[in-house]
Amino acid sequence: MKIHEYQGKELLKKYGVPVPRGAVAFSVDEAVKAAEALGGPIWVVKAQIHAGGRGKGGGVKLGRSIDEVRALSSQILGMQLITHQTGPDGQKVKRLYIEEGCDIGRELYLGVTLDHEKSQLCFMASTEGGMDIEEVAEHQPEKILKEWCDPLVGLADYQGRNLAFGLGLTGASVNKCVGFMRALYKAYVELDCSLLEINPLVVTKGGDLIALDAKVNFDDNALFRHPEFQALRDLDEEDPKEVEASKFDLSFIALDGNIGCLVNGAGLAMSTMDIIKYYGGDPANFLDVGGGATTEKVTAAFKIILTDPKVKGIFVNIFGGIMKCDTIANGVIAATRELGLTVPVVVRLEGTNVDLGKKLLAESGLNLQSANDMADGAQKIVAAVAKG
Ligand code: ADP
Ligand code: MG
Repeated sequence: MKIHEYQGKELLKKYGVPVPRGAVAFSVDEAVKAAEALGGPIWVVKAQIHAGGRGKGGGVKLGRSIDEVRALSSQILGMQLITHQTGPDGQKVKRLYIEEGCDIGRELYLGVTLDHEKSQLCFMASTEGGMDIEEVAEHQPEKILKEWCDPLVGLADYQGRNLAFGLGLTGASVNKCVGFMRALYKAYVELDCSLLEINPLVVTKGGDLIALDAKVNFDDNALFRHPEFQALRDLDEEDPKEVEASKFDLSFIALDGNIGCLVNGAGLAMSTMDIIKYYGGDPANFLDVGGGATTEKVTAAFKIILTDPKVKGIFVNIFGGIMKCDTIANGVIAATRELGLTVPVVVRLEGTNVDLGKKLLAESGLNLQSANDMADGAQKIVAAVAKG
């Protein structure tokens, strides 16, 4: 789960990570009020979207007067911000963060994430902070310094000092950096993060360290331990179909193609996508109804696929174990009765209650093609979509 920069900074502040003062604004008036409350002489108006690269895309601007803050806010609020992480359509800016301007000496990079191979948290630091860390990682990987943390010890002070020296820090800044990193470590563990990234970590001209940006991602598997994070969710940043699916506890993944896939189980989802690709098609999504879905859940799932404008054909590929084929059939029938059917649908059912499932579909009067097996089903749906 992702959250906004201002929310991340609020959380990190509680752990003692120094951040600039700032306030969130949902309108230009709120932005102006926030700037007045902060006081000048320099403010930064920052678009709040979940994607990074906002600076380069024109979503982070410096204002030197309240009038400038007002002008910049009305320019950025509502804009369709395109960055290297948003995709070509960009993301509409609905919130701003108004922050005091920071007296930047140097821009560094600091990140923490789990190294799955070592089963340890890894601190990554680089002198090449600012806006292009992905480029640095690709072309100059030696410029990213790393320290792995023993889970029983956490980040040891000597490791913090290694990184601080590697960043070229001297004097009092070294210990400030070690304290900064310790705070990040504690935040990472207690908040069950999957990524903490401070880019840039700024060294001010006075030698202080400040988190000028904050990317805080939570580990979805630990969200049940943090019910308070629900309030941090911004549904505008999520695919509406994924939000709808999550209401019914379905996993829905949007993809780029045009064949909608209703499946049960992640393994079958992967094989379904593989076989569609193998026969020359392209999945638009896959919706995994899981093991013990009810008719209501299957109905909701099929509706999500039916209302996706990208979908030009649907492949229902079910292997009924715990899931019963008649439940799937009833869900498909109920959703189609309600919404109508404008695209070809191929159904492959196998397993528990398969005969009953097939009978229900056959008697439903709906225009469905049935398939004998996965390969047959994939070929049929690819052909049907190709015909248009
Ligand atoms: P993004 O990573 O999405 O581009 P950042 O928050 O990192 O957004 O901001 C981009 C750049 O804008 C920073 O590298 C920094 O140079 C500048 N910047 C951001 N916040 C401030 C601030 N409070 N004061 C001065 N400059 C800032
Ligand atoms: Mg940044």
